[in-house]
Amino acid sequence: MWPRRSSTPSKCIVADPIRRWLELQRDLGGDEVIVDNAPDLIAAMHAKSPKPARTAAAAPTATPTTAETPLKSTPKATPKAAPPSPTRAMPAAEPKSAPVFGGVARPFGDPDAVWRKAAPEIPGPGMAVVPPPASVAKGAVWTSLEQVASVVAECRACPLCEGRTHTVPGEGNPAARLMCVGEGPGENEDLSGRPFVGKAGELLDKILENIEVPREQVYIANVVKCRPPRNRAPLPDEREACSAYLHRQIALVRPKVLLALGSTAAEALLGVKKPLGDLRLRVHAWDGIPLIVTYHPAALLRNPNWKRPAWDDVRIARQLLELDT
Ligand code: URA
Ligand code: SF4
Repeated sequence: MWPRRSSTPSKCIVADPIRRWLELQRDLGGDEVIVDNAPDLIAAMHAKSPKPARTAAAAPTATPTTAETPLKSTPKATPKAAPPSPTRAMPAAEPKSAPVFGGVARPFGDPDAVWRKAAPEIPGPGMAVVPPPASVAKGAVWTSLEQVASVVAECRACPLCEGRTHTVPGEGNPAARLMCVGEGPGENEDLSGRPFVGKAGELLDKILENIEVPREQVYIANVVKCRPPRNRAPLPDEREACSAYLHRQIALVRPKVLLALGSTAAEALLGVKKPLGDLRLRVHAWDGIPLIVTYHPAALLRNPNWKRPAWDDVRIARQLLELDT
C-alpha cells in the first residue's frame, strides 16, 4: 500500500484519473495518500479491468470485495434466493425472496470512471416487500410530489409536529433513477426545510458525485418528515404515521434503484428489525424496485472504517442503475 501522511501531497503533476482517485481516497478513507510511483499507477488506472459483459445481475455466491480487489471474471452461477428471515414484519407487507434483477447492462457516464475500477459484483437477492395496502390507499389521492409536500406541510399526525421549524418532505429530480432514503431531518434540515444539507449531506453529495450521479439527478427523502427531538431515531409509531408519504413519493418517482441510508430507512422499508450488516450486500426489492442498504452518512462521519464498505454498496447500486431491469 502507499504510505500515508497527513501533510499536503508533493506538487508533482499527476494525471487526472490519479487526482480523482486521490480525492476519492481522501473523501472515503480519511488521510491523504502520497504516491511515489505515479507512472506505474497511471498505467494501472488506464488498464481495462477484466469485467465480463453483464447479462444477469445476481451472483449470490459473490463475496463483497473492497475497492482494491479486482473483479472475478468467472461466469456467474444461477442465482439462488437466500433471504434473511424477518424478525418483525411490517403489517401487510410481505418480505419474501426478491426477484433477480438482470438484463443487459446499458452503461452511462464515463466508461473509464474511477468508481468502476474493481467495483464489487452485484450480490444476490434479499427480501421482496410490497407496500402495505393501507398506506397505498391513504396516499393514492396524492398525484404529485408537490402535493405530497403540501400535505406534509400541514401534517399533525404524530407528535414530531410539535418541535419542528419546517417540515422536510424531500427534494430532487422527480424522474430520478436513484432515490435515497434517510432517517429524518436534523437541525440544519429542520431550519432549512431541505434534506441532507448538514455535514452528512455534504458527504452524501460527495459520494453521489463519485458515482457520477450528482445530487441534482437524485431524489432524496426521509422516513419521517419532521425533526425528532435531539436527533433521536424516530419511534415506530412516528415512522408508521409518516409512512404513507414516503411510500407515495417512491411510487411517484418510481426510481430504478432505492438506496436506504442507515438502519432506520432499511428497517422502515423492509419491515424488519435487523443489524445493518445483515441487510447489506443483498439486492432487496421494494414493490419491485431494487433496494440496496448501506450505512448512513452520519455514521460514516463517526466511523470512517465503514466508508470502504459503504463505497462498495453505492457502487453496487450504481451498477444496478445500468441494468435493463
Ligand atoms: N440525516 C437524515 O437521515 N436525513 C437528513 O435529511 C439529514 C440527516
Ligand atoms: Fe406528520 Fe410525518 Fe411530521 Fe409526523 S413526522 S407530523 S407524520 S409529517
